[in-house]
Amino acid sequence: MEGFRLNADAALAVDEYLEYKRIVGEDDGGKLMSPQEYADYKRRVLPQRERNRLFVSWSGPTGMDCKLVGPETPCFCTHRYKQHQTDLEEIPKERPIHLPCRVHGCRCASYLYIPRNGSQAIRCHCKHPANEHHEYEPYVCKKCAVCKGFQSSFSCGCGYPTRAHQMVVETKEQRVDRGKPVGHDVPYAAMGGLTGFSSLAEGYLRLDASGVGVPGDDLLNAPITAHDHPFLRAHSGTAASLLPHNSSRSTADAGANNSLTQGIANLKLREEEDMAELEKRYQERIKLQRQQARTGASGRAPYQAKTQSRGKGKQATPSGKARPLRGALVVAGWSDVWRGERAVRRATHPGQETPAPALTGAAPSGVEAVCCCCCRMSASCPT
Ligand SMILES: [Zn+2]
Ligand SMILES: [Zn+2]
Ligand SMILES: [Zn+2]
Ligand SMILES: [Zn+2]
Ligand SMILES: [Zn+2]
Repeated sequence: MEGFRLNADAALAVDEYLEYKRIVGEDDGGKLMSPQEYADYKRRVLPQRERNRLFVSWSGPTGMDCKLVGPETPCFCTHRYKQHQTDLEEIPKERPIHLPCRVHGCRCASYLYIPRNGSQAIRCHCKHPANEHHEYEPYVCKKCAVCKGFQSSFSCGCGYPTRAHQMVVETKEQRVDRGKPVGHDVPYAAMGGLTGFSSLAEGYLRLDASGVGVPGDDLLNAPITAHDHPFLRAHSGTAASLLPHNSSRSTADAGANNSLTQGIANLKLREEEDMAELEKRYQERIKLQRQQARTGASGRAPYQAKTQSRGKGKQATPSGKARPLRGALVVAGWSDVWRGERAVRRATHPGQETPAPALTGAAPSGVEAVCCCCCRMSASCPT
C-alpha cells in the first residue's frame, strides 16, 4: 500500500479541519468559515449546545434504547441525522420535539430512524422498500396505490416489530430521570444519543437496557434460571464446577476474577488426576500381559500343549505316548503298507485276494512311504 507523508504543519491543519467539521457539522452550508466566523460560531453555539443538547434514541416497548442515533445515522428521508436541525436555541415546551431535515427540498418534518435489514432497506407491506415512500406522514408509497402508509413487519433485535418502537427526543434532565446515560458534555454537533463506545452497539448487544456500559458482577454472577439463554442453561453445571469448592475463598473481596482463576486451576488439577489414573491402569494391563506370557511358556495350559502337539502331527494319548493322526500316511514298516493295500483290493475287487508278496527289505520306521506307481512298494520299484 502506497502511503503519503505530511509535514507537521499539514498534519496539524488536518487535525484542525477534522475538529472544525465535528463542531460545525453542516452549519457552514458547505462553505468553509473564516477563522473569525469560526471563533464567533464557537462563542455563540457551544454554551447553547452544552445547555440544550438533545438525546435522540429509538426505543422499544420495554424501554430499551434499541438504537442510539449518531451524526451519521440515516433518517427515513434518507438524509443523515447531522443534516437535520439538531441545535435549538430554546427547548420547546411541547412534546415530542421535532427535528426537521435541513436539506433543500426534503419535506421530512422530524427525524425518524428506520432500521435496516443488514445492508438492505426494510420493506413495507406493499412490498416496496422504505426509501421508495414519501418522507412525510403518512409515509405512503411513491410506487403503488395500495399503500396506506409505511408499515413493516421487520423485527428489531429486541424481538419487537418496528411499529412497536418510537423515536425519543429528550433533554438531559429527562434522560437522567429515565435512568439513561448522558455521558460527558462535548462540543461536537449532532451527537444525538451517543455517550460512549457502547452506544454504537444496538440495545440488545449492549447487555443492558441503557448503554451505561459493562453490567456489574451482580448481574454477571447471577444464578442461571429457566429464563436464561439455552446456552447458559446447558452449561450451568460447567459454570458451577468452575467455581471453587471452598466457599470461604469466594468472599466478596476475592473478586470474580480470582474465583474464575481458581476454578480453572481446579479443573486443571482434575484433568491431571485423570491422566495419572489412566496411565496407572495401562501399566497394570501391560504387567498382567507379561505375566500371562511367562506362565504360558512354562507349559501350564492344556489347550496350549494340545495345540503344539497338533502342530507336530501327533495327538497326546492318556498314556503320554504319541500316535499317528488319522489319515496320515505314516507307516511303521512295509507290512502296514501291505495291509492297507489288501483292504482296498478287498473293497474294490471282492473274491480276488492277492497273496502277499515276499518283501525283501524293510522300510525304516517313521518314514513316509508314498509311491506314484502300482509297484505295491516292492523292492524292484523303479522309483
Ligand atoms: Zn431529509
Ligand atoms: Zn429526515
Ligand atoms: Zn408501502
Ligand atoms: Zn408500494
Ligand atoms: Zn428494538
